[in-house]
Amino acid sequence: MMKYNLCGRSGIRLPALSLGLWHNFGSVDSFETAREMLLAAFDAGICHFDLANNYGPEPGSAEENFGRILRADLAAHRDEMFISTKAGHAMWPGVYGDGSSRKSLIASCDQSLRRMGLEYVDVFYSHRYDGVTPIEETMQALVDIVRSGKALYVGISKYPVHLQQQCYDYLQAHGVPCLLSQYPANMFKRGAIAEGAASNLAVAAENGSGFICFSPLAQGLLTSKYFNGIPAHSRAARSTGYLQPQQVTPQRVEAARQLHAVAASRGQTLPQMALAWLLHDARVTSVIIGTSSVPQLMDNLQTLEHLEFSAEVLQRIESILSADGLAM
Ligand code: NDP
Repeated sequence: MMKYNLCGRSGIRLPALSLGLWHNFGSVDSFETAREMLLAAFDAGICHFDLANNYGPEPGSAEENFGRILRADLAAHRDEMFISTKAGHAMWPGVYGDGSSRKSLIASCDQSLRRMGLEYVDVFYSHRYDGVTPIEETMQALVDIVRSGKALYVGISKYPVHLQQQCYDYLQAHGVPCLLSQYPANMFKRGAIAEGAASNLAVAAENGSGFICFSPLAQGLLTSKYFNGIPAHSRAARSTGYLQPQQVTPQRVEAARQLHAVAASRGQTLPQMALAWLLHDARVTSVIIGTSSVPQLMDNLQTLEHLEFSAEVLQRIESILSADGLAM
């Protein structure tokens, strides 16, 4: 059964597992598999779908495919779905197709709505701090996107911790509090969720923002698929996959093997334990999974049957993760 968590200091509940469309939903992928995964996810209570302008490839094609499925199969359920998109990374050729300026964000939001065939998205994110645009310009664009009715809420993604507070303060002062903060987090990438008051997670929680983790399985490294080399049908093998073969190191594969044994002792698969490990922190609202098949989705859904950890198991995991060369 899906579990729904309150998102920070808001009235919104999000499913503990959300579905991301970064890979496997583009024009290079099987449309039928994409459709099956989306419908199976929705049937299982995953009502939050995470997109961005550039997801594909081709950039934009994940939004187009999502819109196509929405129109054909889910049109009656729009009010039961929580849909996000983002702008900030390179999207279209030309000087305004990249970055976090007001011009780029507002134009991109309009394009995303057209591709998905939506009147509004539930969350519009600034996908990244671009190193140039003043925080005030980007945050005011988010405020105005909400004011114009094109998004219900806003979020930030990957903002460095020293800029996070500025974003929250600006948005709060302008009556559009930041609903969601989206950061990479998994057993091999723990910076955003590190212990202490200075992590992205701690700062988000302190400000009443929900927190949503991406790449929770380190793009597939936290599964058993790389135990015997790089299989042909895997993200590391695909020319369009973001996971590079050189990131599949002997140290990470060995750690995954040891974690797999711990997961088996809990009666779980490694992906299930890796997802549960993130959800174990009550400040984490949701974890965005990415799947390339319906069986992977079903595997991940079973995470929710066992979310608890004993102190001893957490310690075993910690000692495996303390090995050199795992951090990404
Ligand atoms: P994951 O770390 O979960 O990696 C997903 C991949 O792991 C799948 O494609 C599949 O690999 C493998 N996998 C998943 N479940 C299983 C399973 N049960 N058994 C075996 N293999 C499995 O997440 P993503 O990196 O895909 O990120 C998830 C979402 O997060 C994205 O879709 C996007 O919405 C969001 N995101 C946001 C970013 C941002 O900048 N804000 C950046 C990146 C992601 P394979 O393809 O090899 O089968």
